[in-house]
Amino acid sequence: MRYSALRLLKEGLTGQKGWTPHWRDPAPKDDYDIVLIGGGGHGLSTAYYLAKNHGLTNVAVLEKGYLGGGNVGRNTTIVRANYFLDGNSQFYSHSLKLWEGLEQELNYNVMHSQRGLINLFHSDGQRDAFARRGNAMVNQGDDAILLDREGVRKHLPYLDFDNTRFPIYGGLLHPRGGTARHDAVAWGYARGADRRGVDLIQNCEVTGIDVEAGRVTGVQTTRGAIRARKVGIVTAGRSGQVAAMAGMRLPIESHILQAFVTEGLKPVIDHVVSFGMGHFYISQSDKGGLVFGGDLDFYASYAQRGNLPMAEHVMEAGMTLMPMIGKARVLRSWGGIMDMTPDGSPIIDKTHIDGLYVDCGWCYGGFKAVPASGWCFAHLIARDAPHEVAAKYRLDRFRTGHLLDEEGTGSQHNLH
Ligand SMILES: Cc1cc2nc3c(=O)[nH]c(=O)nc-3n(C[C@H](O)[C@H](O)[C@H](O)COP(=O)(O)OP(=O)(O)OC[C@H]3O[C@@H](n4cnc5c(N)ncnc54)[C@H](O)[C@@H]3O)c2cc1C
Repeated sequence: MRYSALRLLKEGLTGQKGWTPHWRDPAPKDDYDIVLIGGGGHGLSTAYYLAKNHGLTNVAVLEKGYLGGGNVGRNTTIVRANYFLDGNSQFYSHSLKLWEGLEQELNYNVMHSQRGLINLFHSDGQRDAFARRGNAMVNQGDDAILLDREGVRKHLPYLDFDNTRFPIYGGLLHPRGGTARHDAVAWGYARGADRRGVDLIQNCEVTGIDVEAGRVTGVQTTRGAIRARKVGIVTAGRSGQVAAMAGMRLPIESHILQAFVTEGLKPVIDHVVSFGMGHFYISQSDKGGLVFGGDLDFYASYAQRGNLPMAEHVMEAGMTLMPMIGKARVLRSWGGIMDMTPDGSPIIDKTHIDGLYVDCGWCYGGFKAVPASGWCFAHLIARDAPHEVAAKYRLDRFRTGHLLDEEGTGSQHNLH
C-alpha cells in the first residue's frame, strides 16, 4: 500500500475503508539468519537496511513490548548534526543526509522539520567554544552560523536577554537541525522492513542468548527458542542486561532522562532552542505543545520514570530563559532509560562471541542517529566489517583509552 495524495483523496471519498495494517503479526519461526533483539528505532532501521541495502530478509526483530514503546517514542525528537570530533561528525552528518530523504525513502510522513536549532551562549568563553564547534561543523560539510545577541533577538525575541545572572551573548544556529515525529519514524521503518519480508515479533522478550564454542546459535524467548546465525543487540537502556545473557559486561550505565509537554498553544516557538547556563531545551510540537527537557536524573536506574529534583531544575531553567513559559500548564512528563557510555559516544561493533553484535550507548542523543545507526549496523552484520562512518564506535576504545569524548568531561557515565 503506497501513500499518495490521490490515495488520501480516494479513501476520503470512500469512507477510509481501504487502509491495511502497517505490518503483519507473524508467529516466530524456529530459525532465522539474523535475529535483532529490540524493536526500537535502531532495531527497526537496522532491519530495514539489512533488507533494503543487503537483500537479507530472513530476519526477525524481537520486541518484548510493542514496537516503538521504548525511547524511540519517548524522546524530544531533536535531529541535528552539530558534532565536533572526528568519528562523530561524519556519522551524524551521514545521518542528517538520510533524514533529508527519509520521507521519500519510506513513503511515510515522519514530519521531519528543519526549523533550525539555536544553542545559546552566555559568556565570552562559551562564545569561543561555540565558534570552534561551528567552524568544525562547516569544515566537514555541515551548516552553522554564529549569531550575536541582536542576531539571536531577530529569531527569538521572546527570550529574557538581560537576565542579571545569565545575559544572552549570542547563539550558534544550525539551520538544518530540527525535529521529526518520533513514533512515525519507528512506524515508517517497521512498515518498510515488514514489506520487504522481515518478521516483526512483538510481546516476545529475549530471556537468554545461546552460545556454543564461542559462537552464537540463537536466543531463548518468552515465545520459545529461536535459532539464528547472527544476533544483534539493539536494546538501548537494557543493553547491559541483555549482553549479560551472553556473559558480557558492557561499559554501559543506565540513567533516566525526563521530558515534559505543555497543553497545546498557538505557534510561539519556531526553532529548537537550548539554554547555555542550565539544562533546558525546547521546541513546539505540531500539535502545539511545548516539548522540553533537561539533563539526566544523575543516578543509575531502570525505573523508566523520572524524579522531582530534575523536574524542578528544568522548570527553573525554562523560567529563567523565557519567563513567558510560566503561563503554560504542563500536561505530562515521562522518563526513558538511557544507555550511557563512559565517553558519551555509541558502540556499533562485533563482540568477542562470533555472530554476536552490539549497537548501543546512544545516551540521550540516539533519535537523530536512527537512520545512520541502522545503515551502519546492517552493514556490519551483513559484511562483518564496520561502515566507514562508524569505524570509531569500537568496544575496545574503553580498554585502549581512545575515547570519543565530545564533552571533554572524562570517563564518567553521568556527565555525558
Ligand atoms: C526523554 C528523552 C528525550 C530524548 N531526546 C532526544 C532528542 O531530542 N534527540 C535525540 O537524538 N535523542 C533523544 N533521546 C535519546 C533517544 O530516544 C535514544 O537514544 C534512542 O531512541 C535509543 O534507541 P532505540 O530507539 O533503539 O531505543 P528503544 O526505543 O528504547 O528500543 C529498545 C527496545 O528494546 C526492547 N527490549 C529491551 N530488552 C529486551 C529484551 N530482553 N527482549 C526484547 N526486547 C527488548 C525495549 O522494549 C525497546 O523497545 C531522548 C531520550 C529520552 C528518554
